Amino acid sequence: MLLNMKTLSTLWHKKSCDKCKNEFPVHKDWVNPPTHCGPCRLISQKFVDAVEFLVKESVSEAPIDTKRTFLKLLQKAGSCYRQKKFDGENQVAAWLSTERDLAYIIWNDKNLRVTVLKCIKKLKFQRREDARADKCNEIRSARLSNRTRRWSG
Ligand SMILES: [Zn+2]
Repeated sequence: MLLNMKTLSTLWHKKSCDKCKNEFPVHKDWVNPPTHCGPCRLISQKFVDAVEFLVKESVSEAPIDTKRTFLKLLQKAGSCYRQKKFDGENQVAAWLSTERDLAYIIWNDKNLRVTVLKCIKKLKFQRREDARADKCNEIRSARLSNRTRRWSG
């Protein structure tokens, strides 16, 4: 056990987050260690959108218990945000601190973290697909108008 602990502490070292300055663990074998801590990474990837998607969309495959947990967390975050505003905190500051609290809770729960990260990936892919579809439509309509021009000219 002692040996394990020792091995663990030599494999992982602490790094200070470039954004919030909190320390987070980095593995010595990681080629490209992150510069931001987990919660900061969640925030920069707009994780709240993913959580809202998970809760609202009937298409999301998350188990019902996980959805319920996310719903409760969102409701709690919502009332916390309203309370902060009610207490006179600036709207942006109130939102940022609420968002950060939510990011910490999700990052520290493996199940929630994995579910949200998967969803972020999925939403990103969807957006890419949408962009691709838009591009195809653009090309198609450009071609169409060229053709029409040719016909009319
Ligand atoms: Zn951070």
